[in-house]
Amino acid sequence: MTQHRLLAVHAHPDDESSKGAGTYAMYEARGAEVMVVSCTGGEAGDVLNTGLHARAHAERDLTGLRRVEMAEAQRILEIEHRWLGYRDSGMAREDGSLEPGTFAAIPIATSVRPLIRLIREFRPHVLVTYDERGGYPHPDHIRTHEISMLAWDEAAADRHPELGAPWSVQKLYYDRTMNDERFRSLLSELKLHPDKKHLADRMEAVVERILQRAQRRTTRIAVGDYLLRRDDALRAHASQVAPDHEFFFGYPRDIEATAYPFEDYELVRSRVGEPADGEFEADLFERVVLEGEEGR
Ligand SMILES: [Zn+2]
Repeated sequence: MTQHRLLAVHAHPDDESSKGAGTYAMYEARGAEVMVVSCTGGEAGDVLNTGLHARAHAERDLTGLRRVEMAEAQRILEIEHRWLGYRDSGMAREDGSLEPGTFAAIPIATSVRPLIRLIREFRPHVLVTYDERGGYPHPDHIRTHEISMLAWDEAAADRHPELGAPWSVQKLYYDRTMNDERFRSLLSELKLHPDKKHLADRMEAVVERILQRAQRRTTRIAVGDYLLRRDDALRAHASQVAPDHEFFFGYPRDIEATAYPFEDYELVRSRVGEPADGEFEADLFERVVLEGEEGR
């Protein structure tokens, strides 16, 4: 039987666990094939967890440690994983320039090639990536968006025969997991619990920032049964996320499950039609046609 296949394109190891891990775990459990590709190895990251157990490893070889962490997150989510093979660009320098040879400093026409090859090999029906701002404005996130959009066209085109046979992805989504409705719902639920007032106050500032730009959403995936797997995957990236990180882990999961047990997406490219105006999709594979089903 042919299965649904989902490819999620992320910039750094840990992005897959903070943006969409519930979705990936859910689809994997439902029998779909899910692959995450990390464009870079996260080499330019800092150690963001002061209580890190593997501190010696992090100081000696952060890149190596992040590979170990990524393998653990992959095991927890039970997904497939690939490295695109580029080096983390870090944040731009003060003059706006980037470290030569890093992911965002390499021409798109070059860095799109391994992604085209991967798409033609894995043949996903659905691709998930970031919006043009990168979700947050890290040069690697913006470049991840750029090569994903280019690969949508190029992988399907009759070009680059050396990278495999053309493959048309049917739908492309932007990640919208950090949307205003989610935080507003969490906030109003937190305010019902007087002992969570501090947290609600601090989150309010985050929500205000997110509210400044409206996010179009077309698709809402129920991930309530997968919140703990998502958390475990994120904690696997221990050099990047402290286990008591307030923003990620500060609110009880039963509050989250009541307030907003969803991960959201925006459908931005489709070769199989759009949801009706004002209607939310509940499944990334809605209207997707599997091989052998064409013309039925
Ligand atoms: Zn990132």
